[in-house]
Amino acid sequence: LTTADLIEEHRICVCVRKRPLNKKELSVKDLDVITIPSKDVVMVHEPKQKVDLTRYLENQTFRFDYAFDDSTTNEMVYRFTARPLVETIFERGMATCFAYGQTGSGKTHTMGGDFSGKNQDLTRDVFLMLKKPNYKKLDLQVYATFFEIYSGKVFDLLNRKAKLRVLEDGKQQVQVVGLQEKEVKCTEDVLKLIEVGNSCRTSGQTSANAHSSRSHAVFQIILRRKGKMHGKFSLIDLAGNERGADTSSADRQTRLEGAEINKSLLALKECIRALGRNKPHTPFRASKLTQVLRDSFIGENSRTCMIATISPGMTSCENTLNTLRYANRVKEF
Ligand code: ADP
Ligand code: MG
Repeated sequence: LTTADLIEEHRICVCVRKRPLNKKELSVKDLDVITIPSKDVVMVHEPKQKVDLTRYLENQTFRFDYAFDDSTTNEMVYRFTARPLVETIFERGMATCFAYGQTGSGKTHTMGGDFSGKNQDLTRDVFLMLKKPNYKKLDLQVYATFFEIYSGKVFDLLNRKAKLRVLEDGKQQVQVVGLQEKEVKCTEDVLKLIEVGNSCRTSGQTSANAHSSRSHAVFQIILRRKGKMHGKFSLIDLAGNERGADTSSADRQTRLEGAEINKSLLALKECIRALGRNKPHTPFRASKLTQVLRDSFIGENSRTCMIATISPGMTSCENTLNTLRYANRVKEF
């Protein structure tokens, strides 16, 4: 089976990507506890101690559509994840690619570093596809949006972080009121927009990383034909999934934000699962993230790819296991 077959079959592709140990982990002699014995298996070797103090490794195995080890390049990951979905949006479908994992595990890196790398690949392929005779005759226009969801609120990164309202009409169509859609004619146009959005995203923040770990960033490529939506590709860099410390935080705002993130990641899991099962009742409204992405989870022609990113270190073991269990549940039917 190829990725395309798997996606065809389940409409969902779930992958895992392990990053290398970083300088900080190496400097404290953190152990690499993750192995990828084959191209779809991840093993966690968790060091444990018995009551009598004998040490042993507890091995846990997880299977996914793809498991990328720490030598895999962004280009390779792209080829097996987002690339097979490009055709979907030309065939009037919705494609969504998520990066999920703890802060520091490689979500932003996987999305091409602030989206620019991934987008270069993606937009290049979108513009190439546009030139194919079959699609050329459709006379499609390409637009981009870039926004973030922070503490349950939507902010437009292409419009000076304007706070936007989300409305749902009687037909359950969701509209992000006033979201800027900028027309793009080439890859450079897209990169410029991403630069604008990224600088807007982090301006006024004490720490870019602290902020990105608590917000979801969404970049979309929209195809329109005579003004009507033809297809949409969403790239999503999710908030970090580590929330343990938040629940006991003295700061009320931190606790609320943490609860909001938990809620949205749980709702996301349920919505993706529902996509695979054609379940009619899906908890879109449970979070702003899933509400805004509603149209990407419905319809015959929706495809989703999740890339769960994991840190290799023993010190991250608990978060890594949580990430792998979550990714497993997304895929489990
Ligand atoms: P996150 O967005 O999940 O918080 P980042 O993508 O910012 O994590 O990654 C944290 C650090 O690790 C960054 O310096 C990044 O360049 C590095 N990194 C992440 N994944 C990889 C990888 N697969 N190979 C090399 N470096 C990586
Ligand atoms: Mg990040």
